[in-house]
Amino acid sequence: MSNDNGLTKDASFREIAPDCAELALDLLENIPGHVWSMDSAGRFIYRNRSMDAYFGGGLFDHGAWLECVHSDDRRYVANSWQQSMETGEPFDNAHRLRGFDGEFRWFRASGRPSRDARARVTAWHGQTIDIEHQKKAEENLRARSVELSLLVDMVPSNLWRLTPDGTTTLVNRRMADYLGLDLPNVSDIASVMDTIFHPDDADAVYAELTRCLATGERFSMRYRLLRADGVYRWMSGRAEPLRDQDGTIVQWFGLCHDIEDQVQTTAALRRSAEKLARATQAANLSQLSASIAHEVNQPLAAIATDTDACLRWLSADPPNVERGKLAARRITQDVVAATEVISRIRALFQHEPQARTVEDVNRLIHEVLDLMSDEIVATTTRIDMDLDVHLPPVSLDRVQVQQVLVNLIRNGIQAMDATNPLRSLKIMSSSERPGTIRISVEDAGNGFKDPERVFEPFFTTKSNGMGMGLPICRSIVEAHGGRLWVANNGTIGATVAFTLPVA
Ligand code: ADP
Repeated sequence: MSNDNGLTKDASFREIAPDCAELALDLLENIPGHVWSMDSAGRFIYRNRSMDAYFGGGLFDHGAWLECVHSDDRRYVANSWQQSMETGEPFDNAHRLRGFDGEFRWFRASGRPSRDARARVTAWHGQTIDIEHQKKAEENLRARSVELSLLVDMVPSNLWRLTPDGTTTLVNRRMADYLGLDLPNVSDIASVMDTIFHPDDADAVYAELTRCLATGERFSMRYRLLRADGVYRWMSGRAEPLRDQDGTIVQWFGLCHDIEDQVQTTAALRRSAEKLARATQAANLSQLSASIAHEVNQPLAAIATDTDACLRWLSADPPNVERGKLAARRITQDVVAATEVISRIRALFQHEPQARTVEDVNRLIHEVLDLMSDEIVATTTRIDMDLDVHLPPVSLDRVQVQQVLVNLIRNGIQAMDATNPLRSLKIMSSSERPGTIRISVEDAGNGFKDPERVFEPFFTTKSNGMGMGLPICRSIVEAHGGRLWVANNGTIGATVAFTLPVA
């Protein structure tokens, strides 16, 4: 039961409040909110205490309260009030009101008319509630939602949202642009869905998506998607379900990003790896043939010289058969030497072990220096030796290791030109650590200009060089289980060193 003012009065209420008007007034005065009444002409006839406290009184002459409404809201509030006055319809609106301290706060004002027996409006009763906090919260929420949708559009990926049955309900700006869709018209996506996947991928994508929607498992696939310009590009797509508290899927969120460049780069890498493999094969072949040429050249040159000599002795008058025979024998020896070189090089590249003998490497060094004595004398090179007399014997292919020593010593001599007053070469042997010996050849030349490249086949800085010496030396040493390296000395010259495992 309620009276015209909306005040409830039931039996118990009467008991505790016999003087109803007094209690009603007390209630209105102390209620937390503005309560007011106006006569039918819009003049205040009652304002409670908290309303007066907020406005500080004063501005309540006919219509003057509109002055306290924020200028941006004033026209709307005035119209709405005017309309209610004319029609007698209740009003309800939100607007900003200036308090006596000059600050504006948001309020929600609602009022309704009180009528006499002939239904004429006699007064307006209303309340105005402070909704500043609610408005602030709404604004924050709106700002966050704007921020979020901005983020969704800015994210450098295509984002979408599906219903649990797979209907697309949202795509971000980036995806809409990618597919050439008008963004607000998200339903468009349904019509293009059938055509956006590459024909070779479409069935697999549908099958996987259907499976994931049915099982709730994560979707993750690569497929080609048709871009607005008619080009298919590779995408990496994923989707995860969002579940409610009961674990029921409420929606799916998905994203896909363009991996076309990555796919192309990988394909290009694969192609160049294949090319490289082919080139390496070819390089090995040419390395093999070049090293054969390098090593066989010497016996061939000797064969040519001995054949000339042989012919000369036999065509002399009278023919010198003995000298001719001697030259012919040398030709046979040269042919044997060439054949040996070829079979050694073949074995080296086929990694076939050669017959090894246990040797004293110091002795091998002496033998090589004897062999090269003409060259050493002709270049006035001084040889210093620092050989470890306790060097343990090593199992090796003596011809191959001699070949290494010849190469290193010859390179050292060639590195010191005739104008170099030092022209000294130091050859050292030592037991590097138990189980390994170390041989080094140290010169006083100009040092390596490009130490990184000297093991590349055909790398040479000499006008008549072939660039195969050091690669072959390294192959030989490695085939023996050792290591060979080069280094420039601190001030002058270079050192080439290698290790060999002890027998
Ligand atoms: P080649 O002697 O036919 O050039 P190598 O493979 O033996 O072939 O040597 C390759 C290159 O390494 C040489 O051309 C030279 O530039 C450099 N090199 C080799 N030994 C030395 C050294 N002791 N000092 C400086 N440079 C060297």
